[in-house]
Amino acid sequence: MNSDIKALVETRFLTRRTAREQLIEERKKEVFQKSPRLKEIETELDSNGYSVMLEIMDGKISPEDGAKFLRERHKKLNEEKKEILSVLGYSEDYLNPPYNCDKCNDTGYVNGELCTCFKNEVIKETYKESNLTKQLQNQTFLNFKLDYYSDEVSDEEGISPREHMRTVLARCVSFVADFDKVNTNLLFYGPSGLGKTYLSSCIANELLEGNKTVLYHTASVIFSALEEMRFGRDQSEEAQILARRIFDVDLLIIDDLGTEFMTQFSVAELFRIINTRLLNGKKMIISTNLSLEDLEKKYSERIVSRIMGSFDLIKFFGEDIRVKKALEGR
Ligand SMILES: [Zn+2]
Repeated sequence: MNSDIKALVETRFLTRRTAREQLIEERKKEVFQKSPRLKEIETELDSNGYSVMLEIMDGKISPEDGAKFLRERHKKLNEEKKEILSVLGYSEDYLNPPYNCDKCNDTGYVNGELCTCFKNEVIKETYKESNLTKQLQNQTFLNFKLDYYSDEVSDEEGISPREHMRTVLARCVSFVADFDKVNTNLLFYGPSGLGKTYLSSCIANELLEGNKTVLYHTASVIFSALEEMRFGRDQSEEAQILARRIFDVDLLIIDDLGTEFMTQFSVAELFRIINTRLLNGKKMIISTNLSLEDLEKKYSERIVSRIMGSFDLIKFFGEDIRVKKALEGR
């Protein structure tokens, strides 16, 4: 579990509990003004049978009788409390508003273990931070359809796009399965409309489910964000967090490399990102519509040799499948 996100969720839980307590205080003030008797009842309930405890300790009453007496007393007081609240037009739980989660009473912990509600919130936050849109979040291996790809053998490649995609899909599945064990990165290259972004999000979604941190962005967004920061035009906290996450997340997905506005700065930054992440054993998926030759022409040789050395080069070929998908969706 990412510690930044865990801390963020912990703060949120604390804020939630504090807000509930404040709400109760305000409501008490309001209600006690209308009914001083209710205030007496609350005070007695809050004292938790202190006077009875004293009597038990003094031996004036047996513990069993004391407990029984307290139970009955509390029941009566609670009934009276409900009655008064109802007469005043309030709901029964007006002074005891429900928790978001009644398993952990919004503490986030049950018996020292993280509550499901806490874990779910961490996952939700991890998704939010991944920058995957709702549409991308629905793209999963299970929904990936090989039959969109032609089964005619390509003369150039000696294999049909469908057969080829079958191995690509298997490679992507194993990338997720071996994520913690094997240190490889993926370069998806080839024309658009062949499922590069789709498979990237399948991988992202699987990893997010497994509580890994993922950041998905197009190359243009990444480089312009870094440039804005570097030249002091955007010093916001948000920009700084993004800049840090580019280097920190478990998986960085750079989509559409080659479509960004290229500058000396962006080329240098691309090298810095790839190099730093490789040194730290952090993984990347880069997708590009460029061919390997164009990639080499466009970027510096040292970038391309880094990619060649540390990325599995995965080619996409065939006809644009978006047309078929759109026809099917009609
Ligand atoms: Zn909970």
